[in-house]
Amino acid sequence: MEKRVLITGAAGFLGSHLCDKFIADGCHVIAMDNLITGTLKNLEHLLPNAAFEFYHHDVTKYIHIPGQLDYILHFASPASPVDYLKIPIQTLKVGAMGTHNCLGLAKDKKARILVASTSEVYGDPLVHPQNEEYWGNVNPVGPRGVYDEAKRYMESLTMAYHNFHGVDTRIVRIFNTYGPRMRLNDGRALPAFIGQALKGEDLTVFGDGTQTRSFCFVSDLIEGVYKLLLSDYCLPVNIGNPDEVSLLTFANEILHLTGNKVKIAYLPLPVDDPRKRQPDITKARNLLNWEPVVSREEGLKRTYEYFKHLYSEKGWS
Ligand code: NAD
Repeated sequence: MEKRVLITGAAGFLGSHLCDKFIADGCHVIAMDNLITGTLKNLEHLLPNAAFEFYHHDVTKYIHIPGQLDYILHFASPASPVDYLKIPIQTLKVGAMGTHNCLGLAKDKKARILVASTSEVYGDPLVHPQNEEYWGNVNPVGPRGVYDEAKRYMESLTMAYHNFHGVDTRIVRIFNTYGPRMRLNDGRALPAFIGQALKGEDLTVFGDGTQTRSFCFVSDLIEGVYKLLLSDYCLPVNIGNPDEVSLLTFANEILHLTGNKVKIAYLPLPVDDPRKRQPDITKARNLLNWEPVVSREEGLKRTYEYFKHLYSEKGWS
């Protein structure tokens, strides 16, 4: 029988790639989004497909889906600092009430649910690289706390539904991911750098650029999420690329890729910006037999082509 899958946050960057994956896999996909940071353009190629339905709905409100559901992937949430600093209450609500509604639905339908957590649960980490046993270093009352604590609460609620109601749950801790369908203006380092390079503006690096990140190409991430969903492991699993790079090196790689002669401009570091970020993916390797296969060089090339095409077609609106 065809599996029926609900994907929340489906019109966003990761959600739309998940829709592609499950449609390609022969599933019936119910895509849900309130379009607060996502866009239907990410899904328009799927709209004519009979196996695809779109529900314009806010997951912090009661969710009604007729019929059976096999899987729920709860990805609805603002994800970039620019977004969650602009809409802090909605961010807390989607992590808390949105997750509660999805878990209630999973219990009712006896569906397996996977929730999208984040490396931000580790905050500004005191352990490096970050493994799943590390409890994190988060400032609950800092500006980023709205996102980090919403996701930490999401994990607790998910485990409570698992332990007390026997719901079949999975938790993925996603590290920085990039690729086509990121928003040009979402404030994250990669689209910001590429956008600035394409517009001939200086690349802005925060602080001295020695802070590190690890960037995972979207196809690798989707494969990891898929394998985790199909596994029988209910505790959190890191999915990300351990290939760590300083933001300054990263900015120079983008300059090299775009062939642009602009300079790098330095701005003050935002409050509570993590200094280091690198996933320990031992668990994903051992449990899921997963590891990233797309190099940063290749992933950046594909992402640049996507943005260059958008820029030449539509300009930067
Ligand atoms: P995105 O902003 O592109 O997508 C999020 C989607 O959720 C958007 O389409 C938005 O409209 C929708 N949404 C937000 N609130 C909603 C609500 N109340 N009801 C219905 N829809 C709602 O972000 P993304 O990068 O695709 O991130 C998706 C998920 O992955 C998020 O939960 C995020 O926390 C998690 N994540 C992403 C990354 C990353 O690098 N992209 C890293 C860690 C975690």
